[in-house]
Amino acid sequence: MVSIERQEARRILEYQGSIHTRRCLSCGSGLAREEVSTDELLPLCKCGAALKYDVVHFKEPIPFDVVRESEEEGLRCNLMLICGTSAEVYPCANRPRMARLHSGGLVPGVDVMGRKANVRPIEVNADATPITYENVSDYLTQGKTGEILSRIVEESGAARKQQS
Ligand SMILES: [Zn+2]
Repeated sequence: MVSIERQEARRILEYQGSIHTRRCLSCGSGLAREEVSTDELLPLCKCGAALKYDVVHFKEPIPFDVVRESEEEGLRCNLMLICGTSAEVYPCANRPRMARLHSGGLVPGVDVMGRKANVRPIEVNADATPITYENVSDYLTQGKTGEILSRIVEESGAARKQQS
């Protein structure tokens, strides 16, 4: 039986950024939510350049640190839930593919670039996606993401109560 531990999300990687944080237009440094002053009309970085809302606009690159960390987390996790997505927007759409590749799913037994993973990609989406058709995900639970994730949380809570 699989034991599901209740854990708070301790670290969230915001691929599209956040309106609650700022990023420097010059040096790329970021200011965390608690460091942002709402008193300043145009907050400045320690390097003197302007800080913008830390959101990714059309044709802007995803912050490198977020891309790097998401790649690492995508290979370190055991279960990857792919929710509410068409799985067609890159580079994020490559996370499940890389997880499957490094887990030996596409090329069994091959250690790709010295990295091995043990990831089970599972989709919760309204419709099948390219990663469904490519057999990258192990399962597709089809429906509304908000409803299905709520049911998963409820049922895992009920399973925990039965265990204790
Ligand atoms: Zn700066």
